[in-house]
Amino acid sequence: MQAPYRELITQDLSLPTPPAVAARILQAIREEGVSGKELGEIVSTDPALTVKILKLVNSPFYGFLSRVNSIERAVGILGINAVKNIALSFVVMKSINRLSTSDDGFNMQYFWKRAITSAVSAELLSQNIGVNKENTFVAGLLMDIGVPVMYSLNPFKYKRVMTEKRTGNINTTEAERRVFGFDHQLVGKELLKNWYIPEVIYRPIGTHHEPESDSNEMVKILYISDIISSIYHGTKNTEKLYSLRRLLEKWFGVSDDVMEKLLDEVGERTVEILDAFEIPAGNMKPYSLLLQEANEELQKLNLSYENLIIELKRAKQNAEELARQLMEANRKLQELAFRDGLTGLYNHRFFQETLDKELKRVERYRHPLAVLMIDIDHFKRINDTYGHPKGDVVLKEIGRLIMDNVRSTDIPARYGGEEFSIILPETTYSGAFKLAERLRKRVEELSFNFRSEAVNVTVSIGGASLSGRCMIKKNILLETADRALYESKSKGRNRTTLYRFHDTAIF
Ligand code: GH3
Ligand code: MG
Ligand code: MG
Repeated sequence: MQAPYRELITQDLSLPTPPAVAARILQAIREEGVSGKELGEIVSTDPALTVKILKLVNSPFYGFLSRVNSIERAVGILGINAVKNIALSFVVMKSINRLSTSDDGFNMQYFWKRAITSAVSAELLSQNIGVNKENTFVAGLLMDIGVPVMYSLNPFKYKRVMTEKRTGNINTTEAERRVFGFDHQLVGKELLKNWYIPEVIYRPIGTHHEPESDSNEMVKILYISDIISSIYHGTKNTEKLYSLRRLLEKWFGVSDDVMEKLLDEVGERTVEILDAFEIPAGNMKPYSLLLQEANEELQKLNLSYENLIIELKRAKQNAEELARQLMEANRKLQELAFRDGLTGLYNHRFFQETLDKELKRVERYRHPLAVLMIDIDHFKRINDTYGHPKGDVVLKEIGRLIMDNVRSTDIPARYGGEEFSIILPETTYSGAFKLAERLRKRVEELSFNFRSEAVNVTVSIGGASLSGRCMIKKNILLETADRALYESKSKGRNRTTLYRFHDTAIF
């Protein structure tokens, strides 16, 4: 043994001298041939200890039908050794609990919860494989007591152990050896030895992290118990479960089924005795329940994943529908931008743009084209006599009339105020003239009823036509049509004047 450790043991670890009753119990435990009655007498000097022992013996863990109400009776049922070990557990626990009162960085309750789980695991595993059951519980319970002892020696140093462990990705014993020069296996073993605890208990504790180096079966039982306990109280369970399965199979030939039952039983039985040790069970549950809950969580996750997909699809459909609506709205908007609000005919801008295009087509294909200008005669009078709104009615009606009487390829527009215009692609002089006359006559036939009076209107039409064999500029074409319109007006209105460009005009 290393010198510094010996020093610590003798100086700082003047191991919490067990209380008088504990010392006597320890002594009784050491001695062979102590009777139940004698043990009962010793224990009963510590009423709290008696209560604890009886509480544990009466817990569902032992499953006795009738109540056990004395230590002697407990010895009668469980045997002297089992009761000695129970008493020993409580005595050691109490002593260890008194250790670390100066620093609250060590969670004693968590430590014991884990230790009790290890103890139950060790007990159940040894039952399962049919080996030495006598001391497994207490060995499992005490295997890590070196940890709180080391912590209480130097809390600051032990915190460094935890940091080393995390950052260096090494196991606890390795980290302890790096920081302290020795590990908790050694401390636990020396402490228990110092207390004259039987060798069958302290010896395997001294090597419980090195199962391959010790042929003692108890070492392997402790090693596995530690894994089971950490499955219940730690993280990385998948990895641990994997090594647990492998080691149980390798060392004890235990199958997966048995392992799962064992795991479950550890959870159930631990919860049953935690109360006797005054440790709250918290959320400790049988392993299968934990697994089931984990699976349910996973299912929920899957479910929400599916929902997410559905939502996404829906969102995509919505987005597509939205895009379609947007396109439609844009189309309508664009249409509106080309339309005159009052009459629904194309507006002036569209007329101009379209005429540009059509003139290019004339240039390219040498097809005929005509433009008509239609102006309502004395329209001002209508407004003045019947009011502006009635004037609007006339505009709308004439607009509708024009729309109804042109081909779908023609472009009727509201040129301005009470003036309309029509682009007539692929239309000859005579075709344009016929259309103009038809429109003029239809307008003449229109009859409005304003203030119970029959009101008639006429239009004057002027136009210009291109045969396709010559080319002129747009403004010339429009000015020419305008001039023709002016001629219709000056010649008495309600008539059509159509100019044509001479075929020899230069392109
Ligand atoms: P002419 O036969 O020489 O064309 O005489 P007119 O009265 O039709 O021509 P003028 O240019 O003198 O008057 C046109 C009138 O058209 C003037 C204007 O108030 C009216 N007008 C222009 N736009 C609208 C409109 O959108 N609604 C209404 N109700 N009247 C309009
Ligand atoms: Mg007019
Ligand atoms: Mg006018």
